[in-house]
Amino acid sequence: MSDSSNLPQLDWPELKPGWVWLCGAGPGEPGLLTLHGLNALRQADVIVYDALVEAAILDWAPQAEKIYAGKRGGKPSPKQRDISLRLVELARAGRRVLRLKGGDPFVFGRGGEEAQTLVQHGVPIRVIPGISAGIGGLAYAGIPVTHRDVNQSVTFVTGHDQSGQTPSSLDWDAISKGSQVIVIYMGMKHIGRIADALLQAGRAADEPVAVVTTATTGDQAVLETCLGTCVRDIQNAALSPPAIICVGRSVLMRQVLDWQAMAEGAAPRNLDPLGRGRPAESA
Ligand code: SAH
Repeated sequence: MSDSSNLPQLDWPELKPGWVWLCGAGPGEPGLLTLHGLNALRQADVIVYDALVEAAILDWAPQAEKIYAGKRGGKPSPKQRDISLRLVELARAGRRVLRLKGGDPFVFGRGGEEAQTLVQHGVPIRVIPGISAGIGGLAYAGIPVTHRDVNQSVTFVTGHDQSGQTPSSLDWDAISKGSQVIVIYMGMKHIGRIADALLQAGRAADEPVAVVTTATTGDQAVLETCLGTCVRDIQNAALSPPAIICVGRSVLMRQVLDWQAMAEGAAPRNLDPLGRGRPAESA
């Protein structure tokens, strides 16, 4: 039986010896972990975790050995293959292994590669989704990733590929034309090139852009800028990763939905930032 104390009544799965559960820890704030994640933390005897996992979440598993496997752009970090094989080893040693990754394990997090290696080695797995930074991080900034008056689609892109370059496989023209809102992970290094590509593809220089760093944590910072000036504004604000960059008019909704500022007593800046001139409830 799993230790389901203090969890709501449910048939909670048991993390058995020799299994690896790949789990998303959410974007930062510990409360954004799922209940399945908490159930996993309670049972793990070893946790292999990434750089973007908040320490407070690990503290919820005092019994578990913690192994850091962080990978941060540009810094020396364990090779992906080594991490995957380490997971295989731990499972084969009969441990209850929790692989804890920031956000959602299958969103730009190499979770799929790790899971595949485990399956190829005959290790049984379970996958526990998490709230991805590109959705939850924006929500904490007061930006709805879709909004009926703005976008019927959203494109999530990564700002660099395996070699650290802007992904050559991305067709920025097509993305620019096909998606009103573009959410960029790992975009800080190449924001200049990305903004240029979008401008060349016809997006307007005054199109709203938000940069949300360390979203959902106590250090969250949000910069509201636009495509034409975002590079300079990011430099001036001395923002550093991890950051989610959102391009599109949904950023304007922050003027009415910055719920964190409002909780601190600030008034909404603009009750109708999209200029719809109608209350939302009328069709
Ligand atoms: N699997 C993760 C993404 C991993 S890639 C997820 O689903 O969220 C790492 C990138 O995610 C970072 O470079 C940054 O672009 C973004 N990211 C993750 N956590 C973040 C946070 N708290 N605030 C802003 N960006 C974040």
